Amino acid sequence: MPNGFWGKALFVDLTTGECRIEAIPEESFRRTLGGCGLGAQILLERLEPGADPLGPGNVLGFLPGLLTGTGAPFSGRFMVVGRSPLTGGWGEANAGGHFGPALRATGLDGVFIRGQADRPVYLEIDEGGAQLRDARAIWGLGVSQTEKAIRQEAGAAARVACVGPAGEQQSLLSGIVHDGGRIAARCGLGAAMGAKNLKAVAVRGDLRPPLASPQAFRAVSDDYLRLFRRKSSPLASRIPRILTALLPLLRRLGIRPSSGPAELVVDSFRRYGTAAGTSMLIELGDTPVRNWQGVGYRDFPLSRGERLSDEAVIRDVVRPYACRACPAACGGITHGPDGERRLRAEYESLAAFGPLLMLDDLEIVNRCNHVCNEAGLDSISIGVAVAFALECNEKGWLPAELATELPLRWGDGPTILELVGRIARREPGLGEWLADGVARASGFLPPEAKAAAMHAGGQELPMHRGLYEPNVAAGYALDPAPGRHTSTASGVAGLSAFRRYFELQGHRPDGRGDFPAKGRTTAIMAAVLRAYDSLGLCHFALQMGEPPFLEWLNAATGWDLDESELYTIGWRIQALRHIFNSREGLPPLVPLPARERGDSPQRSGTTAGLTLDMDAIAASYFATLGLDPLSGLPLPETARRLGLEEEPSARPRPAR
Ligand code: SF4
Repeated sequence: MPNGFWGKALFVDLTTGECRIEAIPEESFRRTLGGCGLGAQILLERLEPGADPLGPGNVLGFLPGLLTGTGAPFSGRFMVVGRSPLTGGWGEANAGGHFGPALRATGLDGVFIRGQADRPVYLEIDEGGAQLRDARAIWGLGVSQTEKAIRQEAGAAARVACVGPAGEQQSLLSGIVHDGGRIAARCGLGAAMGAKNLKAVAVRGDLRPPLASPQAFRAVSDDYLRLFRRKSSPLASRIPRILTALLPLLRRLGIRPSSGPAELVVDSFRRYGTAAGTSMLIELGDTPVRNWQGVGYRDFPLSRGERLSDEAVIRDVVRPYACRACPAACGGITHGPDGERRLRAEYESLAAFGPLLMLDDLEIVNRCNHVCNEAGLDSISIGVAVAFALECNEKGWLPAELATELPLRWGDGPTILELVGRIARREPGLGEWLADGVARASGFLPPEAKAAAMHAGGQELPMHRGLYEPNVAAGYALDPAPGRHTSTASGVAGLSAFRRYFELQGHRPDGRGDFPAKGRTTAIMAAVLRAYDSLGLCHFALQMGEPPFLEWLNAATGWDLDESELYTIGWRIQALRHIFNSREGLPPLVPLPARERGDSPQRSGTTAGLTLDMDAIAASYFATLGLDPLSGLPLPETARRLGLEEEPSARPRPAR
């Protein structure tokens, strides 16, 4: 019996109805850890290159991380993987909550689903096995109703991940929702699930993966958890006001506040979650404003930003919300107008429906977010799609039938809410036009509209500007799942959790304008984060002290890995993801929009005068990871070091 994992995954074929459990050898976990790493390995083995992302050949994986369900702090996350219908390449969407631990508690390390059912079904999994159930009665329901209906059938203890109407209608901006609003949102994987006629996956179990050394595991956790066993500092509630007073001066001096002592970061997360400092990020230039055309402090000043930040956002929270095994509980539960339970909006949604659209009405922002959650839509992509529509209308690029459908204006809350609803319902006209994202929407318009379509490789850009932090831009352009803020450094304000890995590689994180150094930082962080993601841990923990993830892994499995070996595993996972894209004929570097690169440098703000040298960043990233810059494939020496000789690798080029 292995320790730390079950060594089993469920393979479902919706076309034939077969549900089969297969053994996964320990070697696979040693090479990939589980989670998204295992997903990359299995998809490369079992997903035919060129398979239609919306067809039966696509394989969707639901993968808790190796530590998910072990009780390790912050280990409640899971990953959905598949070929992305939005980008055409590696698709990956990460979510917290309670679904991942419940899936692990069924005695499985993952579920892989291929084929296409001939009628709507949902998949029910418990400790005894898996069955497909008729979902015709719940097809068309929003996610809250779907969860409720399935729990009535499968039991109140069941955890349900489902698509809403947007996924059923194969909107390429749709995700997979659980816990009434937690969403594996990115890469359009909800559309892939809807195309399979799969409404939901419901899981119910009570098992815990065995640990090699429960005492060591507990001791490491206890030591780390001391950070969370203090009384909150009264300073936490005063910091937003203090920062607000100081910000204009800091901005003028070009100083960016760092995240501060771990204790204060914990207190801030507990009180405000990701809504902490929305106004600060706008003021400093991290948040895009007016579809990336605005300058935060000038166009959306603090007096407006504060309406979407800190105390304003938590005012209606009735109790905290925590993912399983989380000592921080950064989320909040509110009540909607009918008294129904809702999760409060997080930073990405606040920014995407706020300054991006020049809207400061929190009530409307919350309602837009709720429409997205219920329909199962990615709120980042929807905000960017609405911003695109507003700019297109302003500049006269829309054909008359779209321009006259709604009075599209910046900051017009009721119109914006109506437009979000039309996208969610995929209504003919504006709704249908925007439902598959800005890259496709811009195809119908004059060529100049393409500059306003803010995406990387087809995926809408998140709410952290690459110009503000070039590591983030590097992740948008270079990660095999492009346009995601979780691929590299965003949200990881402090680099201390990576310190040991930078030292290992003889690297010192860099000054802002040193683009080759940025590429190297990005590559090292990408490798560490791929290992970290495959353990099922939350990125926010990386801002709260130094979570001992290597020690947890060793205590859980009985392995004796050191940092260098863990780094090599993460590097291998990143290489596997690049190989996946190369097989699909995708370039390893996607162009970023000129506004994001700063091709016409801004004249004011913290990013004034800055233009990103993406070629320098990319060259250094590929060199650090030993990948071919033209194909993304590992160079022969890299393939040998990572044990990937069986995978396609770059052909050595003849010497000149
Ligand atoms: S910090 Fe927030 S997102 Fe992360 S595990 Fe805790 S509750 Fe979930």
